[in-house]
Amino acid sequence: MKISCLGEFGLIDKIRKSSACSSPAVVVGIGDDAAVIKMAASSVLLATTDMLIEHVHFDLSLTDFPSLGWKSAAVNLSDIAAMGGIPRFCLSSLAIPSGISVEAVKGFYRGFSSLLRAHNTMLVGGDTSSSKSGFVVSVSVLGETKRGMAVYRSGAKYGDSVFVTGTLGDSGAGLEILKSGHRGQRAGVRNLIKKHNRPVPRIEWGRQIALAKCASAMIDISDGLSSDLSHICDASGVGAVLFSDKIPLSTSLLKSATCLEKKPLHYALSGGEDYELLFTVPPSRMNKLKSLRIPITEIGRITKGNGLFLVNAEGRKALLKPTGYNHFKGSLDCKKR
Ligand code: ADP
Ligand code: MG
Repeated sequence: MKISCLGEFGLIDKIRKSSACSSPAVVVGIGDDAAVIKMAASSVLLATTDMLIEHVHFDLSLTDFPSLGWKSAAVNLSDIAAMGGIPRFCLSSLAIPSGISVEAVKGFYRGFSSLLRAHNTMLVGGDTSSSKSGFVVSVSVLGETKRGMAVYRSGAKYGDSVFVTGTLGDSGAGLEILKSGHRGQRAGVRNLIKKHNRPVPRIEWGRQIALAKCASAMIDISDGLSSDLSHICDASGVGAVLFSDKIPLSTSLLKSATCLEKKPLHYALSGGEDYELLFTVPPSRMNKLKSLRIPITEIGRITKGNGLFLVNAEGRKALLKPTGYNHFKGSLDCKKR
């Protein structure tokens, strides 16, 4: 069905019905000028927003609408995970080009709502517009944590260990395979593509790490390990060294190496969009961390001064440049006139 047959308000009504759920904290949800939410006095509010723009963040020939909906929720939930918080409420705004069907938008909200439901997060509002060029998604998530429990990027100290959850590089490799058209039926390749199109936000792991007070700093890996570690280092006024043979790579990535242009380590350092958690741990909290049941790997150390270094398997040390995604790199005219 064409969206023009439903109109803006008919479409909003479909979105509201497809994500219907209730919570005692929501006094008013979708339907008024603003949502009204009750807040607990002992909590702090966490607020985050992220956009996904067609031809910048995604290509509709490389994903489907339910996966796009899933990923739009996941990238925002991941930011709440990186603070050690619990997601509670969500706002979604869409700009929809002509030619997109009602079924496509319903598919988007199927994927979107399935992930929100899994994390007890309610859609309480948003905006819906036509678009003259490309599909645009903007999602905001409101979360909470107890006062004093949020984990920032700025707390890393000299001597802390650097850890990551899960494995790195799958998403970047999955994107390259999608772009090359070399999809194949091999399970390893399918896993990489799934990790790219349907990343899993590490809400529960972030929560456990924060509640156990193990992390001095934390961030989610959206831009790439080297870039995101440099964000922690810049915010904390420290440097870091990573050990290349410690960086966790999945068997899917290692087995698919022949389909890829670069070595697996490249995707782990620079690929981005893994949405794993990168965090630093003081020596005094290492025993507590090891008592948590989370798949984590120690990959490096925080150093004095600044700069990132990579030590290879032979012990050779080289400067590591942050090489993740940067929207305006090369596109700004920075020359002095
Ligand atoms: P307003 O004119 O006050 O901005 P709208 O007509 O845009 O109101 O929206 C009506 C209601 O529907 C509001 O509660 C708004 O938050 C909600 N809404 C609109 N679009 C979306 C969407 N894509 N997802 C969720 N809620 C939406
Ligand atoms: Mg509006």
